[in-house]
Amino acid sequence: MIPAKFDYHRPATVGEAVQLLQSNPDAKVLAGGHSLIPVMKMRLAAPAALVDIGRIANLKGISRSNASLRIGATTTYHEIANSADVKAAAPLLAEAAGQIGDRQVRYRGTIGGNLSHSDPASDLPAAVLALNGTLHVAGPNGNRTIAASNFFVDLMTTALDPGEILTAVEIPTASGRSGAAYLKYEHPASGYALCGAAALVGLDGNGKCTSARLCFNGVNAHALDAGAVASALIGSDLSDAAIDAAVDSNLSIPDPMGDMFASGDYRAQIASIYGKKALKLARDRARG
Ligand SMILES: Cc1cc2nc3c(=O)[nH]c(=O)nc-3n(C[C@H](O)[C@H](O)[C@H](O)COP(=O)(O)OP(=O)(O)OC[C@H]3O[C@@H](n4cnc5c(N)ncnc54)[C@H](O)[C@@H]3O)c2cc1C
Repeated sequence: MIPAKFDYHRPATVGEAVQLLQSNPDAKVLAGGHSLIPVMKMRLAAPAALVDIGRIANLKGISRSNASLRIGATTTYHEIANSADVKAAAPLLAEAAGQIGDRQVRYRGTIGGNLSHSDPASDLPAAVLALNGTLHVAGPNGNRTIAASNFFVDLMTTALDPGEILTAVEIPTASGRSGAAYLKYEHPASGYALCGAAALVGLDGNGKCTSARLCFNGVNAHALDAGAVASALIGSDLSDAAIDAAVDSNLSIPDPMGDMFASGDYRAQIASIYGKKALKLARDRARG
């Protein structure tokens, strides 16, 4: 349980971090270290150098404008789960962050590390996907943004190019009569999601559904957008029967993931149950 030898760098700016990654192609970014350090200790990863972004001041913190919430990449789950701004503008994200691992993990783990690592069983990818987040990235070719819908491309693989750093996540602010819920069926030892369901609904003055999102963690190689379920709900009264029918008729999980903890078929069944529960809770919260 001792990692291979590595160099350690602690840059003070994003520019310096990008340069260090450019001049050390075998280097890896270190954020909270709660995924990277364990795999290094098991010698499943042996980067020649670590570029610790934890002391770069402008990568940390939460700011809110009228239209959006901006969360720096090294902001911890604890900070997100307990932020009044996040609870008000993106309650789904606060709820998902509050369910990650245990206290130690929540005090160290970061939103940037969680999304960049893109473990299928992580909690934040589906929440950020459901919230239509935008990911801000800095790299050797400058800065760019990536929509969450294009960010998660395969098992533990994102749209980040080599040498790029995720710097912030931007989330549109919740508006109107809306409700959100993140529910997970978790592995009892680690807390990781065997299935996590992130739901959002918007209602008009008559209680009809004007917008809906349903995304999952844990059931596929990467976060899954169940867009057909959401489309089927628009214009409905979001009754229990309407939600059950929309999920039963439209939820399709391509190639559900199976492992020693749960088979693909089992995960697909849990997704149907948790998808319905999350949508109903989001609806109840929207109704107030
Ligand atoms: C006991 C335990 C239980 C856990 N339970 C859960 C759980 O229930 N739910 C859950 O979601 N997670 C869980 N985790 C994982 C945890 O959330 C990790 O913190 C997370 O996966 C990675 O975030 P980090 O900040 O620790 O990143 P690190 O471990 O530092 O890095 C992870 C990877 O992302 C890269 N990286 C990090 N930051 C950036 C960046 N800004 N730009 C580009 N690349 C970057 C690193 O190079 C590395 O490859 C658990 C971990 C442990 C140890």
